[in-house]
Amino acid sequence: MPSKEESKLEDELTLKLESAWKETDEKDLKNIMDFAQGYKDYITRAKTEREAVDVAEEILTDNGFRSIHDFEKLAKGDKVFLNNRDKSLAIAVIGEDDIRKGCNILASHIDSPRIDLKARPLYEDNDSLLAIFKTHYYGGIKKYQWVNTPLSIFGKVVKEDGSKVDIRIGEDEDDPVVVITDLLPHLSKKAQGKRKMAEVIKGEELNIIVGGRPIDDDDIDSKLKMNILKLLNDEYGIKEEDFISAEIEIVPSGPARDVGLDRSMIGAYGHDDRVCAYTSMMACIDLPDTPKKTSVVMMFDKEEIGSLGNTGAGSMFLNSFLSELLNRILEGYSYDDLQRTLNNSKAISGDVSAGVNPSFKGVHEMMNAPKMSQGIVVTKFTGAGGKYSANDAHAEYVSFIRRTFNKKNVRWQACELGKVDEGGGGTVAKDLSRLNIETIDAGPAVLGMHSPFEIVSKIDLHHTYRGYMAFLETNE
Ligand code: MN
Ligand code: MN
Repeated sequence: MPSKEESKLEDELTLKLESAWKETDEKDLKNIMDFAQGYKDYITRAKTEREAVDVAEEILTDNGFRSIHDFEKLAKGDKVFLNNRDKSLAIAVIGEDDIRKGCNILASHIDSPRIDLKARPLYEDNDSLLAIFKTHYYGGIKKYQWVNTPLSIFGKVVKEDGSKVDIRIGEDEDDPVVVITDLLPHLSKKAQGKRKMAEVIKGEELNIIVGGRPIDDDDIDSKLKMNILKLLNDEYGIKEEDFISAEIEIVPSGPARDVGLDRSMIGAYGHDDRVCAYTSMMACIDLPDTPKKTSVVMMFDKEEIGSLGNTGAGSMFLNSFLSELLNRILEGYSYDDLQRTLNNSKAISGDVSAGVNPSFKGVHEMMNAPKMSQGIVVTKFTGAGGKYSANDAHAEYVSFIRRTFNKKNVRWQACELGKVDEGGGGTVAKDLSRLNIETIDAGPAVLGMHSPFEIVSKIDLHHTYRGYMAFLETNE
């Protein structure tokens, strides 16, 4: 038994981490569960980057935010957003200080791994008597996870004349769903038994079953294919060539669910990274007072495929949003004003980390591994193979984050994604730091990342929201 003196010294000197549920009283618990319900409603609706922008605009408008194009001038307290091609969104609350002293920026991404259709997707297979969509997956998926599970179709079809058609099939209970079918165990010993994990299902085997009833017309050859084309034409007025100028995304079907008999977690498609987009948007909406520094929330597209493209974090979208703000705040602004704003800004790159999986602990180094329900995960560096491609935040900036979270009793844990030589990954942090913005990664841990049903903890969700709000409120 340690003496009383010794145990005090231990408390003073050692870093202790434990479940963040430990200190929650009845009132906290209600706030945590209410916030989780709001998030479940959001993630159930925001199934693609386009839907995420639509839903965010709706929530923002309901909370007094308006498009920046409605403003000729901006003053402290004004709340604005800027939509970039319906796929990425920038949000700001104008602070009290001169904007050139820097903004507090929360940046996340709203695209998630999924399955896209090819430009010429539809064919009929005369051996199986099925109509099929051919696909090309988007982002890093374990392809075997996407078979034999109900899938929904979200599409934006832009016809030759420029008119747009929205497709949304599979989310209403009465809707049909589509599916990729795996081989039965009885016959898969030779065909799949020797394959490596990445090839259990190959890219060209991610074929989606969309029909099996021929069109009732003896003069038509491809009866299965034609029946599907006829249905799509009747319902949406589209023809086969329209697939070429369409973005049709196949995503897991159905709503977010409570997970665990204690309902402590949420299972859903797309926590990575809409959980950070939602918590940062809500932190910005719920700011109790006009912040000293201008709050900026960025929701980027294309992170899962390398952040390229003009809606991704590698584009000039953040710069151009800041210049839209500066244009409306200052009487004539120069390139120097924009550069000073960037130089003085601080950012959190909001993205998820990998919670310890009880069955695969070997990929983590347990002292530095994110645990579910231990609070928001602060990640000084991401990258792979010796921090390669990482932002690696400066010690001074990590100290600032500690101070900011501790002041507001935010529960946090400092972690790495996995063991040193195990693998790795990146976030939008490198794109922000390229602009000379101080940047660090912070977001909740996820189980089953990039799977059709990812898990987050409700207490981590709440501490992420609280951590992001504490960050937006700082004036350092
Ligand atoms: Mn992510
Ligand atoms: Mn990801």
